[in-house]
Amino acid sequence: MEEKNLNFIEQIVADDLKEGKNGGRLQTRFPPEPNGYLHIGHAKAICMDFGVAEKFGGVCNLRFDDTNPQKEDTEYVESILEDIKWLGFKWGNIYYASDYFQQLWDFAVRLIKEGKAYVDEQTSEQIAEQKGTPTEPGRPSPFRDRPVEESLALFEKMNSGEIPEGAMVLRAKIDMANPNMHFRDPVIYRIINKHHHRTGDQWKAYPMYDFAHGQSDYFEGVTHSICTLEFVPHRPLYDYFIDELKEGRDLADNRPRQYEFNRLNLTYTVMSKRKLLALVQEKLVDGWDDPRMPTVCGLRRRGYSPEAVCKFIDMIGYTKFDALNDFAMLEAAAREDLNQRALRVSAVLNPVKLIVTNYPEGKTEEMIAVNNPENESDGTHTITFSRELWVERDDFMEDAPKKFFRMVPGKEVRLKNAYIVKCLGCKKDADGNIEEIYCEYDPDSRSGLPGADRKVKGTLHWLSAAHCLPAEVRLYDRLFCVENPSADERDFRELLNPGSKEVLTNCFIEPYAAQQDKTRYLQFQRIGYFTYDTDSTPARLVFNRTVGLKDSWKPQRNG
Ligand code: ATP
Ligand code: MG
Repeated sequence: MEEKNLNFIEQIVADDLKEGKNGGRLQTRFPPEPNGYLHIGHAKAICMDFGVAEKFGGVCNLRFDDTNPQKEDTEYVESILEDIKWLGFKWGNIYYASDYFQQLWDFAVRLIKEGKAYVDEQTSEQIAEQKGTPTEPGRPSPFRDRPVEESLALFEKMNSGEIPEGAMVLRAKIDMANPNMHFRDPVIYRIINKHHHRTGDQWKAYPMYDFAHGQSDYFEGVTHSICTLEFVPHRPLYDYFIDELKEGRDLADNRPRQYEFNRLNLTYTVMSKRKLLALVQEKLVDGWDDPRMPTVCGLRRRGYSPEAVCKFIDMIGYTKFDALNDFAMLEAAAREDLNQRALRVSAVLNPVKLIVTNYPEGKTEEMIAVNNPENESDGTHTITFSRELWVERDDFMEDAPKKFFRMVPGKEVRLKNAYIVKCLGCKKDADGNIEEIYCEYDPDSRSGLPGADRKVKGTLHWLSAAHCLPAEVRLYDRLFCVENPSADERDFRELLNPGSKEVLTNCFIEPYAAQQDKTRYLQFQRIGYFTYDTDSTPARLVFNRTVGLKDSWKPQRNG
């Protein structure tokens, strides 16, 4: 294939297909462990696993890597299916590693019979202590050369419930001096006395990752097993077990092969499922889909489109070197995408009254508002103008610096889609708080009228006080206040940004915004991109800020 701009894995796939490896088949898999919700790092793996299959006419299956019943649950299975669909990908089949427990067991029994595996009754500490170092060979376990019959009988017992967790393990007998530590008699089965969400109480002995992953790939006919860089040292063991499994049959090139790319790490957040689970369980966030979470459901609730997520992943690319990507880049991808699709509406988040003193009481006019200047076919809607308006408190200053092109006594501004008004001043309460602002409008300056394009420096958004709806608006910021919480010595809980969520309960929005489908992406003019929160109802509108219009974020110094 003569395609340009392929990433290095796509290039490998293109070359393999050209050479006719695997009979010209391409099959990938996405293998999540159902022990948590998917995060944006998983989205990167998904875009690769599904994307490469799509691009080269192959198939990508979903395989739940459910080999550890301690932390796994069907709740996670459901959420994973939903999130992959939302990202826009289609799987071929759904498989479960647990479907192969019998085959894996039989394979392990065969290895024992061939003298290639043995039951070790040492503690995990003893085993670790004998492992050696990359430059020093390990020492053999005293159980290494026990009779085959003994290992077979004990392996059965490991699975029957009579042996406590941790009392014994099954190890592959390979090479205690191998420079690759993974070959030093790796543990391949351990005892877990927990109910499994699919196989129930049938099994007590569970295969380890290295003994399940490659074999599952082989059983399914995976051709390219794509994963992240931390699995590079596991690759020889991956190949070893597949060689054992094929029992001398000549597969030629018909076998799964593992390829690795760099995992996604993002600034100001964490990607470890253990930490994300702790945030949820300790109620430090409002659930897995809290809009501050880096989870796919969190991003969705925050108002990111699947296209924005995929665009970001495309921007950062796939390499063979680990890096830390800037959260601001994800936000830039969201802005770029939402700019194309968001419906422009008016909302006032911090309202103050503006009275148009020369506009007749009781009169209203319907002003034309463009739905999306980026896409003319999105059409227009109307917004009601009247004498009493809401404007942003920040858009008025009595004594303003020169560059303040908003409302200042004696100066003119345009009210978006409506008239040019001249500010007259304001009324304050006893404490000096501004209660109302006054202005006069120029009837000849109505937007769209000939000659109405008289230049004024500022344009402000507004709402007619009698023609808008109350709303709650939630503003989100970085979840953590340090750039790389995972590299910090302090506990991650201490690094949370206390100002990461701000709730504004006194906001107003135009009725047109409330009539939209709840999945609609919105731009509050001059403020940012927003979407309906899942808590929003017609009677109580709630919006989340996805991202501001510009990158105005400044790191806070913390310790
Ligand atoms: P665990 O710590 O529970 O093993 P995990 O993050 O490895 O978590 P899995 O469910 O095993 O989660 O991951 C499924 C797939 O997603 C794997 O192929 C893994 O390599 C990939 N993946 C996980 N995290 C990232 C990340 N940050 N960037 C890219 N790919 C990732
Ligand atoms: Mg994993």
